[in-house]
Order: sequence, then structure tokens, then C-alpha cells
Amino acid sequence: MLKRFRADLHIHTCLSPCASLDMTPKRIIQQAKQKGLDIIAISDHNSAENIPAALSVSEEITVLPAMEITTSEEAHIIALMPEVNSINELQRIVYSSLPEIEQTKRFYSEQVIVDENDFVKGFNRRLLINATEFSTKELIEIIHELGGLAVACHIDREVFSILTQLGFIPPELKFDALEISFRTSPQDALMEYQQYRHYPWIRSSDAHTLNDIGKVYTEFVIKEPTFEEIKLAFKGQGTRQIKI
Ligand SMILES: [Zn+2]
Ligand SMILES: [Zn+2]
Repeated sequence: MLKRFRADLHIHTCLSPCASLDMTPKRIIQQAKQKGLDIIAISDHNSAENIPAALSVSEEITVLPAMEITTSEEAHIIALMPEVNSINELQRIVYSSLPEIEQTKRFYSEQVIVDENDFVKGFNRRLLINATEFSTKELIEIIHELGGLAVACHIDREVFSILTQLGFIPPELKFDALEISFRTSPQDALMEYQQYRHYPWIRSSDAHTLNDIGKVYTEFVIKEPTFEEIKLAFKGQGTRQIKI
């Protein structure tokens, strides 16, 4: 028996230098509930250090561990991971190519690591907005080896998308899905990106503030709100559906 679940699979916390400081995991979950979301992904830039807090306050909402990684071509891709061990391993790999640099506060706000009660645990001192040294192809392979799903972020955005960085999506890049941002309606996207219709499409908020959570979302028609079911939906298994 399939059911409809609302998912916003691209949300930043206060760990991302460009996100609002009140984007704590606890408040994000509260807001997601108010917006009627069933599934969210916490996807900070090149880091997963606020995932543990998000998972411990998730309650009835499904929280997928995720990360928005900047490839060496400066394209953003989201890794959706099945559980904590695999996101931690991905973080270890990503950190190996992100040198620890003292942040220049003039340009970026603090990258705050918090616990489930909004208490500050520490600050991440890597320049998380940096590009990693991994190419898009390499990163997709790493994500797949760890059991995750790779999504090309905001393909309609004018910066940091696979289309702006490469000009097209090379067929050898095995993306599991493409993400359309709030900037483009599904109707316009259908006309604009017709040649990529063979990929599953999702729509996510890329929220950096509480108000933006759930601004746009994806509806999954699946058995239950789990990573495995989303994976099966991406692969077009059975009568599962993805609606944007
Ligand atoms: Zn991005
Ligand atoms: Zn983002």
C-alpha cells in the first residue's frame, strides 16, 4: 500500500556559513512539522556535524543524513545517505580535501555545531564553502560506494550547478536525481530541461532560513518514509511515484 509523503531534501543548518544562526536542528524540525513535511534532509556544505543533533530530535519526521558537496568543478551535489556511519565516512573523505583554515569572519558567519537542545558544542574551522578536490564523477562514485544517492543540485540556478559549470550533464555522470529549485516552476522546468527528463526530478527549498523550509517540496508516493523507499522511487520500482 503506497502513501504520499512530503519531502524537502535540501535544508541547511547554522553549520553552513551562509545559513541563518537560528537554523538549529531542533527549530528546523519544529518548522518542518508545521509545514506538514514528512521527510527532510539536512544538507550542510561539505559537513555533517549537525546531523547527530537532527537525528536525535527528529521525532515523527524522517531525517535523512545528507551533505551538499562542492566538486572540483564548483558544482554542488547532494549526497543522501542511508545512515550515520556512511555520512561520517563521507565526511572523513570530504574533510581530507578541505584544509583547516581559520575562517575570515569578514566574509562568512560562524559555522556552528549544536546539540539537540540548541546548545553550542563548537565551531567548525574549515572553510566549508570551499570546493573539494574531487571531480563530480569521482564524488558520485564515492557516494555510491558508500550506499548513498547523488543528486545534482539546483540545476536551474545561475551558479554552482552542474549545467553552469559543465554546460550539460555528461551521460557518464550517474546522478540518481536532479533537483529543481524554487526559482523555476515545474512547467517551465519541463520545457527548459526536457532533454534530462529521463532522470527523476525533485524540488527542494535549499532553505537557509526557517521561513524557507518547505517553500517547495517533492511528493513521494512510496510505502514508508525511508531512505530505501526513496531509493526505490528514484529507480522507478513498482508503482512508486515522484511528483514535483
Ligand atoms: Zn548549492
Ligand atoms: Zn544548498
